[in-house]
Amino acid sequence: MNRARQAAVLLLGMASGIAAMPASAADCPGNPGALGTSRTLVVDPREHTRIGTMQYGETLPLQDHEVVLTFDDGPLPPHSTQILDILAAQCVKATFFIIGRMARGFPEGVRKVRDAGHSIGTHSQNHPLSMNRMPIERARQEIDDGIAATKAALGDGGGLSPFFRIPGLLRAEAVEDYLASQGIQTWSADFPADDWRHVSSARVYDLAMKRLEAKGKGILLLHDIQARTVQALPRILHDLKARGYRIVHVVSATPELSKTPTEPQQWQLHPISENVATSHWPKIPSFVFASTETLPAPAAPDWYDGRLLSLPQSLERPRRLARGTVPLPQQAPWPRLMAFQAANAVSTLPVPGEDIFEIQEKSAAPTQQAAILSAHHAESARAPVGNEADAIAKLIAIQASASRRMIPGSHRIAEPGLKRVPLTARQRLSASRAGLMPRERSSVR
Ligand SMILES: [Zn+2]
Repeated sequence: MNRARQAAVLLLGMASGIAAMPASAADCPGNPGALGTSRTLVVDPREHTRIGTMQYGETLPLQDHEVVLTFDDGPLPPHSTQILDILAAQCVKATFFIIGRMARGFPEGVRKVRDAGHSIGTHSQNHPLSMNRMPIERARQEIDDGIAATKAALGDGGGLSPFFRIPGLLRAEAVEDYLASQGIQTWSADFPADDWRHVSSARVYDLAMKRLEAKGKGILLLHDIQARTVQALPRILHDLKARGYRIVHVVSATPELSKTPTEPQQWQLHPISENVATSHWPKIPSFVFASTETLPAPAAPDWYDGRLLSLPQSLERPRRLARGTVPLPQQAPWPRLMAFQAANAVSTLPVPGEDIFEIQEKSAAPTQQAAILSAHHAESARAPVGNEADAIAKLIAIQASASRRMIPGSHRIAEPGLKRVPLTARQRLSASRAGLMPRERSSVR
């Protein structure tokens, strides 16, 4: 569908007060069974300046089973082009967050995104993984340069939306305030699929679907520069269709295109039921722990773009603990974004290449396991004797905490004040039964 027709359909949809349907499955040439794009959502970035429940209290006003696809870090051939082809085959519209430096390197790639009818936001000039701590002047420069480079790639044709995603999701109030002052909406996400990590495409598919099913709707964060994403996307789109999900295309309001009418509570991911009388909407959404799908304990670390991202509402936070354990204390889920600098992390992009945003993964080393278990012992030595269940719960908490502090490829950050003390045979057995310690490695110092 060309842009003029798309705009006409949008206007028609707005005028009639119903959702526009720019590319429904029935309207997908050559693919009557396509997923399609069920509607276009027109947002006013000035009214909702920060979205995405991974970090903010608001997200897009989606209905149940509605999904917004986003792709970061491009364009980079051939993967970005392949992503566009896959989306086109399904008549799916998405939002792309362009890196300025990539736009300079592959300006035709940006135009391809625009010409395919997708929304285009920006993602800084150099993808620095330090916008949460760099001087605001530098952050502004990164934002402005990225926009300028993307605009230059687009030429006179326009097509840039006032949407921005902070590299590594390393948010800072000052950065968000600057973006808001420019009428730019800061996009976090509702769930990632970890496609920047060294995982298989099957894992990307699994995480995308599991996390979507856990929340029921939302903004999915993907990367169009990754081969594994190219491999996973057809299956993701196929199963979205099979499971009754619908794609929503998000565009920004303009003087000619008014915003989609919404109610404030629609911007909350899981608002209180309308059957419950309340005088106000909760500031902190309560969906996090209630809606998280059960996954094996303990929590896996959440990495993002070479930096450690400790997500409070970690989608992998265990819901069901081992029998006999006590639940971990629940913390207010938002905002709680903690970042730790990797020892060898680069602050800017190297020469563009498909591996630039990939992270080397290493499983927890035996020394880490030992340190964790020893730390557990140091803890449990102060705990009431004989309460093994409580000790195991603490062990889970400590291990999850230590995992979140672990930088890929580095050693565990030392925990001051914790001594290594040998475990008793009984404690080793308990830990082993709880799945926290390999049975064959019971001689932890
Ligand atoms: Zn990125």
